[in-house]
Amino acid sequence: MMPNPANNIDVKRRNRANTLRSILSCDRISQTELTQRLTLSWPTVLQNVKELTALGLVQEVGEYDSTGGRKAKAYAPVRNAKLAVGLDVTQNHVGMVLVDLSGQIVRYTRKKSPFSLNDRYFQELGSVLRDFIGDRDTGSRIQGVGVSLPGIVDKAGEELLYSHALGIQNVSTAAFSKYISYPCTYINDANAAGLAEIRGKGFTENLVYLSLSNSVGGAILNAGELYTGSNLRAGEFGHNTLIPGGRRCYCGKEGCLDAYCSAKVLSNHTNGNLLEFFDQLRAGNPEMQKIWQEYLRYLAVAINNLRMSFDCDVMAGGYVGAFLEEFGAPLRGMLEGRNTFQQDASYFKICRYQVEAAAVGAALLQIEEFIQSL
Ligand SMILES: [Zn+2]
Repeated sequence: MMPNPANNIDVKRRNRANTLRSILSCDRISQTELTQRLTLSWPTVLQNVKELTALGLVQEVGEYDSTGGRKAKAYAPVRNAKLAVGLDVTQNHVGMVLVDLSGQIVRYTRKKSPFSLNDRYFQELGSVLRDFIGDRDTGSRIQGVGVSLPGIVDKAGEELLYSHALGIQNVSTAAFSKYISYPCTYINDANAAGLAEIRGKGFTENLVYLSLSNSVGGAILNAGELYTGSNLRAGEFGHNTLIPGGRRCYCGKEGCLDAYCSAKVLSNHTNGNLLEFFDQLRAGNPEMQKIWQEYLRYLAVAINNLRMSFDCDVMAGGYVGAFLEEFGAPLRGMLEGRNTFQQDASYFKICRYQVEAAAVGAALLQIEEFIQSL
């Protein structure tokens, strides 16, 4: 059979992309280690490295000492050769991150900018982005902008089908990029955050990500890929019923998880200020301690249900996720007690990103697109 030339080009591209990913995953790497990691022949790896060097994405950084024979060359990534921006649009704020080729945050900021569906808002979005990017040199290295939106985005990323937080439906995403002079891609906020959390962990990761922000959402990652469901509504864990006939949810139903585990459940006791809630908890305020204990009890039920449904690691993130390292210790015991199969809660993970996970995940879409285009 004749080899298919199109397949050959695909294989070459994939090898080159994987070579770059391997170099990006460490500060420096020897030619021997690189060859072993990629399970490719040295001439193939060398050709890839030459091409990546010519593109300014990789550099030679001296040689490793050798115990005999020729010295092994060392290579390092030029991480800031290309950059991407992530924008996280929420009801009252815009979060912005600048990330490098390896997905590391170069800088970030958050600005108050209440959403309203009019041209002035979209102009403002373009303007805060220009200020954030700053100088022309940074601008010239930006591949594109990933935009995270608090709602359901269609598969092609062309329409925001529904957003409770922004109070809109069926809005073309092109409106958001009207005053942005870079290519833009769009993604649901919890899906973006979930993608950011599995970054660098390969493509085999199964993970359920539970986002505990002003609303509760989530993402299902199956072997590194987002599972979006038949109607793009997969991972809307906030509307799983926790207590039949319970508290009213913003969706109009009773007893949804959102009504028990959103960040607002906590910040409602401190004038909408979540930091203040945890400050008072830290100071030993008995009322806040009681509220927190109750919150964790409900959260434990939700997390255990996800573990029983998906049988993989479950990670808590979002606004409340950022405080679980400090305040979430009782949760493990509760999870161990609920686990039907073994007294174990090691499947439960706390988010890596304390800030702007959704913006980072959105930016990673642009980085990944660039790496795959090589
Ligand atoms: Zn609901």
